[in-house]
Amino acid sequence: MAHYDPNNIFAKILRGELPAYRVYEDDDTLVFMDIMPRSDGHMLVIPKTPCRNVLDASPAQLASVLATVQKMSHAAMQAFDAQGITLQQFNEEAGGQEVFHLHFHILPRHDGDTVRPPGEMADPAVLQAHAEKMRATLEIG
Ligand code: AMP
Repeated sequence: MAHYDPNNIFAKILRGELPAYRVYEDDDTLVFMDIMPRSDGHMLVIPKTPCRNVLDASPAQLASVLATVQKMSHAAMQAFDAQGITLQQFNEEAGGQEVFHLHFHILPRHDGDTVRPPGEMADPAVLQAHAEKMRATLEIG
C-alpha cells in the first residue's frame, strides 16, 4: 500500500490551507460538509492525525473517528429531520477511495429517497446553511 501523502486535500483542510464548511471538531477529529453531497447534510468525519484509510489506521484513530461519526449521526437525525443515516467508507482506489486521508461519509436519509449521483457540486450557500444547521443542533444538544 502507498504511503500517506501529506498534500492530500483533507490534510490541506486540516492545516487551514484550503477552506471547508466546518461543522465540528474535537482534539482528535474534524467534521465538514462534502462539497458534492449525495444527500442534504452529507458530511465527512476525519482524524486529525495522518492515515490513508481503515487499512493503516490505528485502533485509537478508528475509535475517535467512530465516536464522532456516532455523535454527528445523532445530530444529523435531528438537524435534517432524517429518518435514517447511511455511512460510507472507501479504502484504496480499488475500493472506491479518491482522497487518501481516512474519512467516513455520513448521509442523512429520508423514507423512499434516493442518493444523488456523484460529482455534482452543491451551491455554497446551501453547504453553509447545512453546516450552520448542524452547528446549531450540536450547541443545543
Ligand atoms: P472518496 O475518497 O471516494 O470517499 O471521495 C472523496 C469525497 O470527498 C467525495 O465525496 C468528494 O465529494 C469529497 N470532497 C472532495 N474534495 C472536497 C473538499 N475540498 N471539501 C469537501 N469534500 C470534498
